[in-house]
Amino acid sequence: LTKPERFAIVKSTFGDMEVNVEECDVVVIGAGPSGSMLAAEVALAGHRVVVIEKRVETSPLSRAFGVQARTLEALDTRGLADDLIAGGTTAPMLSLWRGAELPLSSLPSRFPFLLVTPQAEVDGALERSARANGAEIVRGAEVVGIEESDDHIEVRAVTAEGIRTWRARYLVAADGAHSAVRASLGLPFPGKVLLRTIQLADARLTEPPRDVVNVNAVGSCFAFIAPFGDGWYRLILWDREHEADERLSFDAEAIRGVLRRAMGTDHGLGEIRWMSRFQSDERQLENYRSGRIFFVGDAAHVHSPAGAQGLNTGVQDALNLGWKLAADLDGAGPHVLESYHAERHPIGALVLRSSGAMIRMMTVGPKPARLIRNAVVRRVFSTKRIAGRIAGMFSGVGLRYPAPRGADRLVGTRAPDLALAEGRLFESLRGGGFRLVLEPGASVPDTGIRVVTRTDPGPALLVRPDGYVAWVGVSASGDWADVLKHWTTTSTTRTAQVRQSQR
Ligand SMILES: Cc1cc2nc3c(=O)[nH]c(=O)nc-3n(C[C@H](O)[C@H](O)[C@H](O)COP(=O)(O)OP(=O)(O)OC[C@H]3O[C@@H](n4cnc5c(N)ncnc54)[C@H](O)[C@@H]3O)c2cc1C
Repeated sequence: LTKPERFAIVKSTFGDMEVNVEECDVVVIGAGPSGSMLAAEVALAGHRVVVIEKRVETSPLSRAFGVQARTLEALDTRGLADDLIAGGTTAPMLSLWRGAELPLSSLPSRFPFLLVTPQAEVDGALERSARANGAEIVRGAEVVGIEESDDHIEVRAVTAEGIRTWRARYLVAADGAHSAVRASLGLPFPGKVLLRTIQLADARLTEPPRDVVNVNAVGSCFAFIAPFGDGWYRLILWDREHEADERLSFDAEAIRGVLRRAMGTDHGLGEIRWMSRFQSDERQLENYRSGRIFFVGDAAHVHSPAGAQGLNTGVQDALNLGWKLAADLDGAGPHVLESYHAERHPIGALVLRSSGAMIRMMTVGPKPARLIRNAVVRRVFSTKRIAGRIAGMFSGVGLRYPAPRGADRLVGTRAPDLALAEGRLFESLRGGGFRLVLEPGASVPDTGIRVVTRTDPGPALLVRPDGYVAWVGVSASGDWADVLKHWTTTSTTRTAQVRQSQR
């Protein structure tokens, strides 16, 4: 990638025109949820970041509607969760296939539910946060060319004022499922088409379902209903007939028909304010990094919307990569950036498997197979331990990163919102950076990072900026200092450390 031939012009009309180059540390393409989160993180760590977005306005389209518990936890660590929750509806349980219920209320989280809120709300909150942290977001600028050299990368975009060029140390492609960056590099996006025609509609229902989130699938179709909390409902529908014949178009009557077949009622379908359809693919990049370019969100992986995973996974990608880019810019070793792919690619693969399994179960055709599916799912969901693991996986709370050999079992898991002498752990993470959480009563060592003290009995923890546990042990041992040094450039003299903490 460091060779000049990696120069790629997405549209060739601009040739070798000479332009002014604007310098920054990281340039992000795409101000969707993944790009804005990434920019917010890099800016929070004090680096110059520019987001280039082709849309002039924030997209009013609401694709995602479900925000999972782990994303809410992450947003809480940046002070963004409470406002979002106040504007949405919470679903403490997912009701699938009439009678199979997956409870979320026992998730070990401050947010034991799925938040139903339009994606535009999440996108808006993240963009405001990025700007507040100091990121520059340039709207109405479409990236048309990238050029990489040994020590920087240049990005050209067409804007209303003409062509603008930015030069940065790193580029983050957050430009969605049809990523122009991915295409311009000629990177394969292996996978397949799952369903060719999924219909979306936002409608009013005069007889809405009892549960917050409802899904039902019969042999020939499925329907999904979730409330936005303001009288409007998101409907996601699939009909085998429409899948087989792409020329068929959905209209209000077709939607009513699918609802009746899948749900047994049309729930008093009324005004429809918006309709759209999309093709659902299942694809993942083989490597989330290509030289100075990193891929996050839909640019790196796409999968079925079943399980409400896309936005959530993209936001978590960005949370993982953001502080690592900042650490690299501050002089941390190359292994820190390498760990982005190592940690996030397996999670993306798991999301493809789990959301794919769900959509395949929803589209099972023959009745005997459906009866078996319903019985198995009901049984699995009624087994508390297994239901808890499934809820942990879909909510993201149960997902973990690989830990070094011999590490404590908590290393790589997300830190719970521990009660601290100074408040809550998630609140204390708001300024970014690592936290050393001391055991109750332990003396405060000299660390170079912020130190807090837990109030309940338990070991000391070193917590990463993205809220994952990096180390667990006895703070007085000073062992956390080696781990901190591994991830950052923060070096503390280990001996001075131990001496201090034993005082
Ligand atoms: C029907 C449906 C329901 C869904 N429901 C859920 C759900 O409940 N929960 C969930 O977690 N996920 C859900 N998703 C998935 C979710 O919408 C996506 O995963 C999410 O939007 C991906 O965010 P992103 O930032 O990676 O990409 P995007 O949101 O696609 O943002 C990419 C941005 O890049 C910009 N861009 C592209 N090319 C260029 C260029 N050349 N120059 C400048 N800018 C460019 C685009 O304008 C866009 O703003 C759903 C998706 C669908 C289709």
